Amino acid sequence: MADPAETEDLWRLMLQHSPIGMAVVQLDGRLLMVNRALCEMLGYAEDELVQHGFQDLTHPDDLDADLALFHRALAGEIDSYRIRKRYLDAQGRVVWGDLSVAVLRDADGDALHFISQVLDVTEQRANEERLEAVTAEVDRERQTLAAIFDTVNVGLLLIGPDGRYERMNRRHADTLRRPFPDGHEGEAGQLGHVYFPDGKTKMTREQMPSYRAAQGEEFDDYNYWVGADPATWSAFSTSARQVRGPSGERLGAVLAYQEITDLMRAIQVKDEFVASVSHELRTPLTSVLGHLEMLGERDDLTDGATAWLRVVHRNAARLQALLSDLLLIGQVADGTLELHPAPVDLRTVVDEAVEAVRVVADQSDVTIRTEAPATLPVVADGQRLRQVLDNLLSNAIKYGRAGGSATVGLRQVGADVELAVADTGMGIAEQDREHVFGRFFRGGEAIRQHLPGTGLGLSIVASIVEAHGGTVTVESELGRGSTFRVALPGAIVEQH
Ligand code: ADP
Repeated sequence: MADPAETEDLWRLMLQHSPIGMAVVQLDGRLLMVNRALCEMLGYAEDELVQHGFQDLTHPDDLDADLALFHRALAGEIDSYRIRKRYLDAQGRVVWGDLSVAVLRDADGDALHFISQVLDVTEQRANEERLEAVTAEVDRERQTLAAIFDTVNVGLLLIGPDGRYERMNRRHADTLRRPFPDGHEGEAGQLGHVYFPDGKTKMTREQMPSYRAAQGEEFDDYNYWVGADPATWSAFSTSARQVRGPSGERLGAVLAYQEITDLMRAIQVKDEFVASVSHELRTPLTSVLGHLEMLGERDDLTDGATAWLRVVHRNAARLQALLSDLLLIGQVADGTLELHPAPVDLRTVVDEAVEAVRVVADQSDVTIRTEAPATLPVVADGQRLRQVLDNLLSNAIKYGRAGGSATVGLRQVGADVELAVADTGMGIAEQDREHVFGRFFRGGEAIRQHLPGTGLGLSIVASIVEAHGGTVTVESELGRGSTFRVALPGAIVEQH
């Protein structure tokens, strides 16, 4: 058994060096003994702290709760209690403490002292408050996003890195039955009633937007029809973006589905209208031109009548050219554009095209240059390539500058042919550049300057070049000029 004096020393040592605030409290609440941790916690020297009672060290708002327990302990109802409460330190600052109190009683059970231990939890409390604030903010954000997710009139789908459907909004769930009337398995690439804009070609698994997105692709404005019956089907335009984690790992993809049925139907109606009008106009116009030619052969016309006749003929010929453009556009739209490839000398095609615009070029004071080999035999649809050149050259003159030039360049690169038409004219504004090959598109400057045109020329160029398996691109600088480049891969075929 240890010496009692030694034991007391040990206890005192432990009390003084404990990291937990400790006090022996008298029955009136005054602090009889305090340790160093409690002094540090409350910012008092030991001799100052023992002048206080716990009542005036406690935050007024927490005092009642503490006193109630204190009195119950005093009355013998309980032997100990715990409470989290606020103290006020020497500077009047709030200190949070976890207080445990035990009652020391005499042999009769009357209370002698209270032993209090206080753990400073101010920092923990501040962290908890910060965490609560952040959690509340995250919750609010999540609720806002969930509301937006379900309110937008765009279908939204989130797919995981394995291609499984993870989440979709109400809008997408509502429209999913149209392509998949028998239900969807929740996995990217399931085949359904999904057709390309031509309304005929069904999408394969690899072409399905969800499959492409699941493979890591990103795209915009991927348009298609969905539904089993063309009379009631709907059209969608879909975009996809990849979702990545902080270190760039793929977490999945998000798809946005916008319904564009009205727009696609309007385009369809426009195409049908253009096709039928141009078809209907062709026969009477051919008759008009035929009769004009017969009239032109008569020798009993006055000079005035002959001059008028020439004007009528020129305009009827322009109408015919416009009609054949419209017919070609119609063939491209319904996929019936046919090429008739045959051996042809591209240099000759270029020379004939240049010759045909010579008069107009002279009138506009645009010099035409040709940079081409003496001959360049290819296998291609010569008539269609002539149309490409006609359109590019007439644009180079129409959008050219008086005193400027238009240069046709032709060269062979291996088995490929590169054709370029460059002008020194007005150039194309950046925002117009990506649209110039679109059907009926006319540039802002062309409209402002009232330059005549239908917006079909470059669309025809692009369709013919694409039908040859080639590409056409444009480089342009506003006010300096434009260069259109046509690449025809594999046009050169060795002739033995
Ligand atoms: P159109 O000439 O009948 O308007 P196109 O399809 O040939 O139709 O051209 C579309 C638009 O592209 C034109 O309206 C014009 O704004 C622009 N464009 C085409 N070629 C040129 C060019 N060489 N220089 C400047 N702008 C051009």
